Amino acid sequence: MTAGGVSSAKPPSSSTDRWQPTMPVIPSRADVVIIGGGIIGCSIAYHLTKLGIRDVVLLERRQLTFGTTWHAAGLVPQLRATRTLTELAKYTSELLKTLEAETGQATGFKQNGSVAVALNAARFEEFKRTGAIGRAFGVEVEFLTPSDVLSKYPLLSDKGVVGGLWTPNDGQTNPVDTTMAYAKGARQGGARIFENTEVTDIVVENGRAVGVRVSHEGVDGEVRAPTVVLAAGMWSHWIARKHGVRLALQAAEHFYIVTEAMAGVPTNLPVLRVPDEWAYYKEDAGKLLLGAFEPVAKPWALQGIPMDFCFDELPQDLDHFEPVLSKAMERVPILQTTGIATWFNGPESFTPDDRYLLGETAEVRDLFVACGFNSIGIQSSGGAGKVLAQWIRDRHVPIDLPGMEVRRMHSCQGTRAYLADRTTESLGLLYAMHWPFRQVETARGARRSAFHERLLANGACMGELSGWERPNWYSAPGSSPQYAYSFGHQNWFHNTAEECRAARDAVALFDQSSMPKFMVWGRDACKVLNRICTADVDVVPGRIVYTQWLNTRGGIEADLTLTRVAPDRYLVVTSAASQIRDLTYLQEHIPPDAFCTVTDITSGLPMLGLMGPNSRALLAAVSGADLGNGAFPFGTSQEIEIGYAVVRASRITYVGELGWELYIPAEFALHVFDRLMQAGADHGLKLAGFHALNACRTEKAYRHWGHDVGIEDTPVEAGLAFTCAWDKPGGFIGREAALAQKEHGIPCKRLLQFKLADPNELLVHEEPIFADGRAVGLVTSGMYGHRVAASLGMGYVKLLQPITPDLIQQTRFEIGVGDRRVPAQAQLSAWYDPKSERPKT
Ligand SMILES: Cc1cc2nc3c(=O)[nH]c(=O)nc-3n(C[C@H](O)[C@H](O)[C@H](O)COP(=O)(O)OP(=O)(O)OC[C@H]3O[C@@H](n4cnc5c(N)ncnc54)[C@H](O)[C@@H]3O)c2cc1C
Repeated sequence: MTAGGVSSAKPPSSSTDRWQPTMPVIPSRADVVIIGGGIIGCSIAYHLTKLGIRDVVLLERRQLTFGTTWHAAGLVPQLRATRTLTELAKYTSELLKTLEAETGQATGFKQNGSVAVALNAARFEEFKRTGAIGRAFGVEVEFLTPSDVLSKYPLLSDKGVVGGLWTPNDGQTNPVDTTMAYAKGARQGGARIFENTEVTDIVVENGRAVGVRVSHEGVDGEVRAPTVVLAAGMWSHWIARKHGVRLALQAAEHFYIVTEAMAGVPTNLPVLRVPDEWAYYKEDAGKLLLGAFEPVAKPWALQGIPMDFCFDELPQDLDHFEPVLSKAMERVPILQTTGIATWFNGPESFTPDDRYLLGETAEVRDLFVACGFNSIGIQSSGGAGKVLAQWIRDRHVPIDLPGMEVRRMHSCQGTRAYLADRTTESLGLLYAMHWPFRQVETARGARRSAFHERLLANGACMGELSGWERPNWYSAPGSSPQYAYSFGHQNWFHNTAEECRAARDAVALFDQSSMPKFMVWGRDACKVLNRICTADVDVVPGRIVYTQWLNTRGGIEADLTLTRVAPDRYLVVTSAASQIRDLTYLQEHIPPDAFCTVTDITSGLPMLGLMGPNSRALLAAVSGADLGNGAFPFGTSQEIEIGYAVVRASRITYVGELGWELYIPAEFALHVFDRLMQAGADHGLKLAGFHALNACRTEKAYRHWGHDVGIEDTPVEAGLAFTCAWDKPGGFIGREAALAQKEHGIPCKRLLQFKLADPNELLVHEEPIFADGRAVGLVTSGMYGHRVAASLGMGYVKLLQPITPDLIQQTRFEIGVGDRRVPAQAQLSAWYDPKSERPKT
């Protein structure tokens, strides 16, 4: 390792014209260079050194913590909305218990617990559901009556309190001291940290990050590193943007006040959250800190973060904070007689879905990011730092993080306009009701399928996914396509039931244009895909293949179908939320010397799913094609004519009925739609939405990547080993790991199908599964199955012995829905048409 990367010499005009440093200060290379010395950058440095990666250089433009970290309130709760977030937050609090002793740097961490207060029954139900996930993963929680709440938090007025949630191990910490402890631990492990060193750019060569340009005390230089980590908080968007990486994060103003010291505030006072009043309260050296997650937030610095912004506050906005404060004065009456010492307003980054951005970017390889922390950066610091460090070491994501991976975002979600609009809402969603099926209200209409206006005219109620407007359900004529949320059957229940009935008994038309489509072509396309896919894709043109893509550990990276449309050409269709991830996976797995290329053709190829027993007759009526089993068997694809359009019809289904997916060149989309709708009246055609699709596919036990299958699940565990062509020439990525598991015998972890005894209890996802009273897994997805008239779900269970059908029958399964344990039937196969006869009729 040489020293001396920063110099007053001019930077090179190209990477081959290497610039020789003359004023050594900063090393010219490192194994990992981290941009940003907030709590996240310091935690990553700390965790890298823990893994033995010691040649780490962290560069901070001013001083450590001088971005957002210094002014955080410092809450460190353990309960989050999902298993992964809960596990990461729990790890942080475990770490903070020992970090001070390990590093010798005080952190200020203490575990006074927290009380969350519900002011209505729905909120209490939400607490119970979140609490149930936490309990399944070892987080201690207790549900409180209103009088229990008062005993935990005597300063509270219990007016309107319905119940509460007590989490005794929740904590609070001093964000500055905790960051310093990470930094000290990192230094003790060998990392070098440089303050007053601004990264002016990331050096990208041949699509890879290879270092950073820096400016230190007025002189410029370069630090080369095979891994660059961008942990620059709200600045990250602007740094990455120069290289075509649109990180979906936006700063917003974030407010709190701190009172004057008051008698009667014990230092062991728990944190109090009253989400129905958008407020949290924290004891702060004998004072109270009151912070807010107000429903309509104020994005800040839409045109870029001022370069001189550092250790700064934003101007106060008393009118904006007043609604929170006036409710707080009622809720904690002592505030009425106490002065306010500090009015604070500081910026924090928020993302469109309130989940942070982690991992290697799709656009620039070896550029890792950890940013967009949505006001949970302190509590996430340990978990996110650990995961990213492992990711950097192993070059693969260590745990299933589909909701956090930076590659989940579409570029439209990183545009200035989208972020500006969504951020007004996303801050407040942290404390809003987390209703099942809740839809965002801002930044809507970004991606509309060719059928959009037609669907609206037919009563579509749109939902949003990755910027797409997608029909979730259709309202009856004369009624409004608006959600009325609840934890029970929502107002669209009967509409969806009718749509499912059409799909099962007549014919339904689904707009599935949001599904990404890639064309993989070239003379090596078959060879390349055969190596990536578990299934044998060396099939005759016109055949459709269902397959997984695995990683070398046998985990499922994607679940998809592809169609060989010509000897040198395949149409790959994946799921809407993984467009960028799957495209990047493909690109990364095409060997550089292969004659094979991939093109994303999603935008040009809208898709309609025509599903149901009457689909053959309807499609024949509009196309004149022979669609019988002889001419057009299941699992095949042909071009047919519908009106003036040449359409690719693929006989395949995600609802489990006879049906065709129709891939239509964009300019013909409405023409084909109109033909189908006109002829459809004679065949019982009904438009159907994604809720119906989801209900039907759940009855059929069709898996969905990101929910029911992911990188921690293997084909054997997921019941998908039938897709693996174990003996095909050349094998496939992950074959050895998957085969070893198969040969080991029946696994102790398997995906099971569940049916609740009580049809009024609904599963969404993440509900704990109990086997003979013991928590053994979580529901991965759930929906009401209208044909089987029951609440259904699926989820992995881990038992102590191989999971055979006999063992399943002998086991007493229950699912935790809130504070209830609902008995459930379980089996390996689908509840509807388990032999899959209907699609082949
Ligand atoms: C009012 C408020 C209350 C909060 N309360 C809590 C809470 O109770 N609990 C919780 O978990 N979270 C809380 N947060 C959120 C938390 O503070 C953040 O999520 C966290 O601090 C983010 O850390 P970071 O390291 O990602 O970003 P930052 O702290 O902003 O660090 C990024 C660093 O990168 C540096 N940098 C930027 N550009 C460059 C460059 N070009 N070169 C070198 N360095 C650069 C910056 O100077 C900065 O120091 C709160 C936030 C606010 C605003």
